[in-house]
Amino acid sequence: MEAYKQLIFTRSYLNGGWKGNEETFDVLNPADGSILASVSNANKEDVEQAINSAHLAFRTWSKSSAKERSAILLKWYSLIVENKESLARIMTLESGKPINESRGEVDYGAAFIQWFAEEAKRLYGDVIPGYTVDRRIIVIKQPIGVVGAITPWNFPLAMITRKVSPALAAGCTVVVRPSEETPLTALAIAHLAEKAGFPKGVFNVIAGTDASSIGKTLCESPLVSKISFTGSTRVGQILSSQSVSTLKKLSLELGGNAPFIVFEDADIDTAVKGAIAGKFRFSGQTCVCVNRILVHQRIYEEFIDKFVLAVSKLKLGNGMEEEVNIGPLINKKAIERVESFIDDALSKGGTILTGGKRIDQQFFPPTVIRDATKEMNFSKEEIFGPLAPIFKFSSDEEAIQLANDTIYGLAAYFYTNDLTRSWKISEALEYGIVGINEGLISTEVAPFGGIKYSGSGREGSKYGIEDYTEIKYVCIGNIK
Ligand code: ADP
Repeated sequence: MEAYKQLIFTRSYLNGGWKGNEETFDVLNPADGSILASVSNANKEDVEQAINSAHLAFRTWSKSSAKERSAILLKWYSLIVENKESLARIMTLESGKPINESRGEVDYGAAFIQWFAEEAKRLYGDVIPGYTVDRRIIVIKQPIGVVGAITPWNFPLAMITRKVSPALAAGCTVVVRPSEETPLTALAIAHLAEKAGFPKGVFNVIAGTDASSIGKTLCESPLVSKISFTGSTRVGQILSSQSVSTLKKLSLELGGNAPFIVFEDADIDTAVKGAIAGKFRFSGQTCVCVNRILVHQRIYEEFIDKFVLAVSKLKLGNGMEEEVNIGPLINKKAIERVESFIDDALSKGGTILTGGKRIDQQFFPPTVIRDATKEMNFSKEEIFGPLAPIFKFSSDEEAIQLANDTIYGLAAYFYTNDLTRSWKISEALEYGIVGINEGLISTEVAPFGGIKYSGSGREGSKYGIEDYTEIKYVCIGNIK
């Protein structure tokens, strides 16, 4: 048996065991539509059971020492790294992600566990000078409680570890609901979490197709103290409104519309390389993927020529093949979405330079459109596919105005060799994350998150654990 098959699990993991129901749903391989596994479909009772067990487990897990929690997290980290190849295969099979990117995601996702295993021990409080001579003021940080984590299909592993590891490190317990498109990676890491030694109820994974019912149950439960969600702005808004009755705390990592600005003094080859990486990672299906390429008019033609040449070298195919850069899109709807952006752009004066037509039900080639304008739909909406529209600008002011002309505010990128411009543009961009002369900037050591309609909260870094804590002020009086 191939090694990865030993990590395929088809039931939800809750209260330290595997829970199956008769009703199942199929997980498909987007590369060929074949059925990879039939997974037991969790229902409302399963979610409630998971919440109850997480709530019970919180009593003891929250009292464990940071050192104990750190040790279990590090064990989990090691098991994930040991099983890198199998996890990468499962991820590629269920998401279509090119295998090398999947391997990269295992490293990236595991790095959050390692980082937060370390941060667990440094969740420092404060001692504040008292305001009268007989008082002492202390600030401590405590785990927030049970966390509901709802994650998307585009990072089947890393979006889970990015939420779960700071939560567990802080002393919270977790109920994860992975996307129904990619539950297998989530269940595989649940198995490894069990092996690492998390006590029962601390970490639960609910695999089910009824996203709205599971989401509602998590949001409305008084036993869940926090929701952390990565996905669309639309669903983020639904979760926010469902959380009103319990005044739940929310971290929302939502959609983006990333501008990629190339100023006239930029190193064009470096910019082309960054644009390829930032645009076509996972075929453009990430929330920080470049959505609009803005190029100064003086270098517009040169950039386009070099960019189109670089795009022509990308290899399209089944993500399981080693040299493939562009795999299938996640489903048919994703293909139709890209097509509708193209039709709209063509009707408004855009020109296709390469790509432009689907290859079959699942594959869409990398596509470049020139003469893009702010009237085109991708100026307002997230593309989430391998389509790169190129806009033209003639001044820094115009570039900033175009870049900020969106409801979103997650990631932005720009290329320049001018120090003053670097600083001024960084400050002017209304985004939570800015890459200068760099198209790939996600890391466990830096805070990731957006502003405006891209959400709230930060993941990764020393800031990422704060979202899972409550601050308590303790006053000691009458010290005479
Ligand atoms: P994407 O475009 O990345 O699929 P979605 O916001 O649709 O973005 O999905 C992100 C995650 O949220 C997925 O796991 C999806 O199944 C889940 N989801 C979709 N609708 C809801 C909902 N109403 N409540 C809770 N989760 C939902």
